Amino acid sequence: MTTKTVEKRVLPVSNMGNERTLTLIRYGSGSAGKKAYLQAGLHADEAPGYLVMHHLINLLDTSDAERKIPGEILLIPVANPIGTGQWRDEVLRGRFDYFDNTNFNRKHLDITEKVAEKIQDALSDSPDQNKAIIRQAMADILGGLSPLDESAQLKHLLLSLSFDADIVLDLHCDYQAVTHVYMGSPLWPEASDLSAQVGAESTLLAKVSGANPYDEACSRIWWELAEKFPAYPIPLACLAATIELKGISDVSHELASRDAENIFLFLQRRGLISGKAAELPPLRNDATPLRGMEHIKATVPGVVVYFKAPGDLLQKGDLIAEIVNPLEDDPNRRITRIKSTIDGVLISINVDRFARPGRLLAKIAGKEPLTDKGQNLLTL
Ligand SMILES: [Zn+2]
Repeated sequence: MTTKTVEKRVLPVSNMGNERTLTLIRYGSGSAGKKAYLQAGLHADEAPGYLVMHHLINLLDTSDAERKIPGEILLIPVANPIGTGQWRDEVLRGRFDYFDNTNFNRKHLDITEKVAEKIQDALSDSPDQNKAIIRQAMADILGGLSPLDESAQLKHLLLSLSFDADIVLDLHCDYQAVTHVYMGSPLWPEASDLSAQVGAESTLLAKVSGANPYDEACSRIWWELAEKFPAYPIPLACLAATIELKGISDVSHELASRDAENIFLFLQRRGLISGKAAELPPLRNDATPLRGMEHIKATVPGVVVYFKAPGDLLQKGDLIAEIVNPLEDDPNRRITRIKSTIDGVLISINVDRFARPGRLLAKIAGKEPLTDKGQNLLTL
């Protein structure tokens, strides 16, 4: 008997005659007592994750046929059925809710206070017992919520499927980029095997990013509860990470099958799949603070010519790009040079070649926290 099941969940109907479904693919006997949850396409316009899911399903089908999945592995290959319908001007958008312009990977549920209230008299000296008590409280609270708008319902459903997972991997991509990973700083370096295995050039750490992306909604509650109740042992029970699978056009079977294989090996090393994983590749770069990531923005309108590529190591003052505006009569003003403001790894550049003042041109992962970042460390 194989363990694979495919289930459809219907979102509450928000628009007359429109029904959205989420497809859940589950594997595993559950005998290992561990759960991994993986989703792709929360930003529905990011294609690489969908293709990685295709290759991962093939790998897991084979392991399942050989009865080699003792963990529970839940895949949501298309996590945002609202976003996949957002075609406009021949482009699949899928990053922002059309109704309120909210990024689909921001403002996920934060139930820490509600859980804290519920568990305060129930905690014990056993970390395992505390983990179970907290998960039960999370289940009760999530079960009692029924958000009204469609995006909130989707976010609620996704968290309801993953809150009890030991591992949550949210597959994304950047515009034109090298592979990089976001996760909570308390998870590092215990989770460095994830970054090493997926070949991340950069891992960006924050305790609170200020925007409550999906991975943080799953993991942050654990260290926040541990801080609230220092007298009791509360484990970091959820390793959640956002994996940026290079850039939006990096879609090939070669890349996706390698990414799927790496995720498979990570899950195998973590005990969800039987067998001994191949040797862990070395970590390419140590993690850096998310607060150290510089967002280089355009200051003038024009056409962007890049001189650096993702993965390049930059020094402060290096020329990253020129913005050219042919309408400027003065040749000296026709070109605006954009230079790096810090030392660090160039992890991504924009997908097209147009600038307007304030538009993001490049992200650089630096080692030192920047002082002018404010509370929100992520883009809108
Ligand atoms: Zn994304």
